[in-house]
Amino acid sequence: MTTTVTVFGSCNMDLVAYAGTAPSRGETVLGREFRTAPGGKGANQALAAAKAGAAVRMVGAVGEDEFGAELRANLADSTVDVSGLRTVPGRSGTAHIVVDDSGDNSIVIVPAANAAVQGLVEGDEALLASSSCVLLQLETPLDGVAEAAAAGRRHGVRVVLTPAPAAPLPAELLSNVDLLVPNEHEAAVLTGHDDPHRALAALLELVPEVVITLGARGSLYGTRQGEVVEVPGFPVRAVDTTAAGDTFVGMLATALGEGVAMPEALRLASAASALSVQRIGASGSMPSRPEIEAFLT
Ligand code: ATP
Repeated sequence: MTTTVTVFGSCNMDLVAYAGTAPSRGETVLGREFRTAPGGKGANQALAAAKAGAAVRMVGAVGEDEFGAELRANLADSTVDVSGLRTVPGRSGTAHIVVDDSGDNSIVIVPAANAAVQGLVEGDEALLASSSCVLLQLETPLDGVAEAAAAGRRHGVRVVLTPAPAAPLPAELLSNVDLLVPNEHEAAVLTGHDDPHRALAALLELVPEVVITLGARGSLYGTRQGEVVEVPGFPVRAVDTTAAGDTFVGMLATALGEGVAMPEALRLASAASALSVQRIGASGSMPSRPEIEAFLT
């Protein structure tokens, strides 16, 4: 069964430098290679869900520059409906990424066009209303994210929030979130607890369901009713973890929309992200559903 997912969020052009080690403060290091690649947490989640088999709509904004045209075309080429993706004056969002030899990354984001995504515009609500799930992140203005979450709740759509980059979350936004998916760092920033189990308990006071992603260690899921599922990471050799979390969320939302039970949906998400970290880049690294299923057999 095909499920429909609407992503409300960012589109960025990733400008990626590969270096032995990332520079520390005040330091300059020589890089080995430079690449540009379509990215942004919103667009990444949209691509991941589309590759996982969902019918996906992207709501957001790109600039009038050549990056904007490339970002739009990349989504459309991957079957994402871009009728809700606006082109606004000025530059597209960019992410300036350093990937080191261990595959870890550090990132500066310049929002540009993403700053124009301040709420729903005509047509967006209809896209949301006819979806099984809306995927939200924090790379677009908070008021718009809150409005999209409220619209999702109004229409009985599952509201999934990736709280990245980590920021304090208003109570009104949280009241409309069904599932929160922070990584370990974001969970610690939101709760003050480094221990994932303690962070999970604290987050479940805010929203009914939480998945904390734990990098190579896998993920930890819990509900307010006391259900806890720990999913170990698949032992793979990571070369680039960019968009591992977005790949995870895209697969998870797709599987849940298809009616797959949470533990199996988490296993699929874990497999999808384990495949993605073995490949360089963000959007190019997301596996297709047949690849994910084959990895699990
Ligand atoms: P990013 O910001 O790079 O998109 P993230 O920090 O949001 O990622 P992580 O917790 O690092 O998210 O990873 C998400 C999921 O990807 C993990 O829950 C795990 O299933 C998988 N994963 C990440 N790194 C690895 C790894 N080295 N080996 C296997 N699986 C991994």
